[in-house]
Amino acid sequence: MKQIQMVDLKSQYDKIKSEIDAGIQEVLDTTTFIKGSKVTDFQHNMEKYLAVKHVIPVGNGTDALQIALMSLDLQAGDEVITPTFTFIATAEVVALLGLRPVLVDVEFDTFNISVEAIKKAITPKTKAIAPVHLFGQCANMQEIMQIAKENNLYVVEDACQSIGAEYTFDNGQRMQSGTIGHIGCTSFFPSKNLGCYGDGGAVFTNDDELAEKIRIISNHGMKVRYYHDLVGVNSRLDSVQAAVLDVKLKYLNNYTEARQRAADFYDSAFKNNEKIIIPSRSAKSSHVFHQYTVKLKNVDRNELQKKLQERAVPAMIYYPVPLHLQKAYTDPRYKAGHFPVAEALCNCVLSLPMHTELDEEQLEYITKSIIENI
Ligand SMILES: *Cc1c(COP(=O)(O)O)cnc(C)c1O
Repeated sequence: MKQIQMVDLKSQYDKIKSEIDAGIQEVLDTTTFIKGSKVTDFQHNMEKYLAVKHVIPVGNGTDALQIALMSLDLQAGDEVITPTFTFIATAEVVALLGLRPVLVDVEFDTFNISVEAIKKAITPKTKAIAPVHLFGQCANMQEIMQIAKENNLYVVEDACQSIGAEYTFDNGQRMQSGTIGHIGCTSFFPSKNLGCYGDGGAVFTNDDELAEKIRIISNHGMKVRYYHDLVGVNSRLDSVQAAVLDVKLKYLNNYTEARQRAADFYDSAFKNNEKIIIPSRSAKSSHVFHQYTVKLKNVDRNELQKKLQERAVPAMIYYPVPLHLQKAYTDPRYKAGHFPVAEALCNCVLSLPMHTELDEEQLEYITKSIIENI
């Protein structure tokens, strides 16, 4: 059996090696490493894939979030509502810009931001909601967009884990994650569902004015060279990464299906096990399984992880500590016990190997190793 990894980038690369190598070689031959045609080609192909008006490629997913927020003209102390059970980047850029991350609890079933919690957290200073489509399934965008409209708030989607997930509104309209809010952001970090071979990210919007501003901010605040209209940053997707992404974008739907097949395998192995709660599937969003994350019931998680390690089965805790209990985000308003769902999740979640190259033999071995050790 092939060694089991959380993410197996090598086996995936081997299957598309000739195309990837040719794409990279083309960049080397033209030496347009920055702002080359590879970047614009990928940008347009991504716009088509997402059915969104503007894709603005940037340096990484965290920059995408930062630039998105910078484009909204928020003032110091303005509040951005974001979940407490997630990766740090979303709250991090809010704090970095002198804005206030207002953390809220999540839903136990979906791991995503709780709509009820958002409603309760709105104050006159609230300017934006930044939902994270955690583990590959969209948050409740129907209600989030409704709340935003009623309260005149921006919605910035963190779609770093959800590229390709499709959300269906009550009226039947379907939209790609990251294209529903005023702005969407994604990451092309190698292990993401659409990953490059270094750092990369992108901002999405259907708003022409915001798109223009986002482009300017990501390029030192200049539209005309050496004339700086805004305080900006330097954040670009380079041509080598764009070449890789343009190849991999063609396979994204296949990759998503491979992840969903692995998830189905896990589901059927665990669904009748009383100690494992399998990830719930939203009726409104497809699930692209950036992670396959179970909740353990009455299981010593450390012990299980140790036993799995002995059998060479990796498993990770995403995420061990909610943001409101992180040292850097200490806030007298947040105490342990404040967000009980997030805190409970941190104590019981376990993410299993999930990537495009898992085969049946590996999946058998993983599920068997888990069932035999809980
Ligand atoms: C990966 C990730 C990011 C950050 O992306 P980088 O490209 O690593 O900067 C932000 N938010 C979420 C939810 C992520 O998973």
